[in-house]
Amino acid sequence: MAKQPMLKFVDVSRDMPSKREAGQRNKDFNEIYAEYADEKAKEQASRCSQCGVPYCQSHCPLHNNIPDWLRMTAMGRLEEAYAISQATNTFPEICGRICPQDRLCEGNCVIEQSGHGTVTIGSVEKYITDTAWENGWVKPIAPTAERDQSVGIIGAGPGGLAAADRLRRAGVQVTVYDRYDRAGGLLTYGIPGFKLEKDVVMRRIKQLELSGVEFVMNCAVGEDLSFDAIRGKHDAVVIATGVYKTRDLEGPGSGADGIVRAIDYLTVSNKLSFGDTVEEYEDGTLNAAGKKVVVIGGGDTAMDCVRTAIRQGAESVKCLYRRDRANMPGSQREVQNAEEEGVVFEWLAAPKGFAGDPVSGVMVQKMRLGAPDASGRQSPEVIEGADYVEDADLVIKALGFEPEDLPKLWGVDGLEVTRWGTVKAEFTTGKTNLEGVYAVGDIVRGASLVVWAIKDGRDCADAILGFLSDTKAVAAE
Ligand SMILES: Cc1cc2nc3c(=O)[nH]c(=O)nc-3n(C[C@H](O)[C@H](O)[C@H](O)COP(=O)(O)OP(=O)(O)OC[C@H]3O[C@@H](n4cnc5c(N)ncnc54)[C@H](O)[C@@H]3O)c2cc1C
Ligand code: SF4
Repeated sequence: MAKQPMLKFVDVSRDMPSKREAGQRNKDFNEIYAEYADEKAKEQASRCSQCGVPYCQSHCPLHNNIPDWLRMTAMGRLEEAYAISQATNTFPEICGRICPQDRLCEGNCVIEQSGHGTVTIGSVEKYITDTAWENGWVKPIAPTAERDQSVGIIGAGPGGLAAADRLRRAGVQVTVYDRYDRAGGLLTYGIPGFKLEKDVVMRRIKQLELSGVEFVMNCAVGEDLSFDAIRGKHDAVVIATGVYKTRDLEGPGSGADGIVRAIDYLTVSNKLSFGDTVEEYEDGTLNAAGKKVVVIGGGDTAMDCVRTAIRQGAESVKCLYRRDRANMPGSQREVQNAEEEGVVFEWLAAPKGFAGDPVSGVMVQKMRLGAPDASGRQSPEVIEGADYVEDADLVIKALGFEPEDLPKLWGVDGLEVTRWGTVKAEFTTGKTNLEGVYAVGDIVRGASLVVWAIKDGRDCADAILGFLSDTKAVAAE
């Protein structure tokens, strides 16, 4: 079958033409969609008041020059809009799709603040870059001069890849090591395809390969290759390994079959979208089809799990969270999406244990919010005598992630970590206490956002370029 051009989604809403209308106008649906997306992008971009106090820009972690690329888009000068947008963001089409804009740029748009609804900045950013890809404006990196120095990057997530891109542009020889079979980190195996299409991530990886970045996949550092070996091979090293240790649940029955980790469930679901055959899906272990699914947690990972379970054809999907809706960590927009898709939320409900093996139910304690703790946040308290059992034949634990113990796993006692186990690094440069060793993204910040990992990767690359120039100068003396 001929490959369909990728659709560009810009603020999909009521006035979108139907496939039938497209047929009546004797036009290809994708052609009509492209025209519609173009109109919508221009319409949104022209709503920017060019206020002169761009809070949107200051609340974007990358300080993207949003007003300028909106102005260019409104004028139809998309190639210039793209040039401005990509100058500060390594992966604008990815951020445009998955940044929590309501908490960042869009939430601080002055039009939004004045009650007229935000300019849909993320959608326009995505549109500009998707258009750039379609028109061939996104080119592989061709450094003006090659350097003989090399950098080894451990972890092919957005933090590692942003550093790789920037270093390669400066002519540095870059090798990226990752324990997975595909690059992209959580962009590939965490975030579901209905939020971030996998071909959008893969074309970036391909472009980095064409740019001369070497990828060493299926290589778990600490097992297949030692950290010291990588350090010995390169002039500088970046640790960009993310956080993957799942916070666990205790209580009677917590080891029963049918109780699974969110990351395993989402990884398998993402592998399927690449067309892989996965045993745990085939044998039903990590497959929600026809099951009563209970997801435990209130963050964005929990939202991704409930929405994936709905798409897999679960009989019912419930989400248990121990605080109320107003106090959940996940985005309200995601909760609304999940509710519209049929997910039922049980607020102020915490698991006490599990019935059956394989699991047949979650023993639930009802909670209420008590007095605020030292941070001002109300702590949940148990309501005695209000327990009940929630039927379940698949329970997904989505309680958040913590860093793995890297110094122990890698046998590098000298690497300083914080009391939370994250790698201790300067926030503006990623510099650790070890000479020539840098760290970026979630392994430094704890579970965070893609846009922050990109910022760290870019900043760290700039710091490494300074370090490499210094070491070269010393060697020449
Ligand atoms: C389910 C889920 C949904 C999310 N949704 C969003 C969202 O919508 N928007 C958003 O902004 N953020 C989201 N996030 C957060 C975001 O994905 C992360 O903040 C971001 O990916 C961190 O980037 P990173 O490069 O630091 O690490 P990662 O993306 O985690 O990449 C780390 C890489 O390091 C590799 N690695 C780890 N250890 C080793 C080792 N020993 N040897 C070799 N390789 C190793 C891993 O295989 C992985 O590929 C989500 C997170 C999850 C879990
Ligand atoms: S990178 Fe994220 S926060 Fe910045 S402009 Fe784009 S969508 Fe907004």
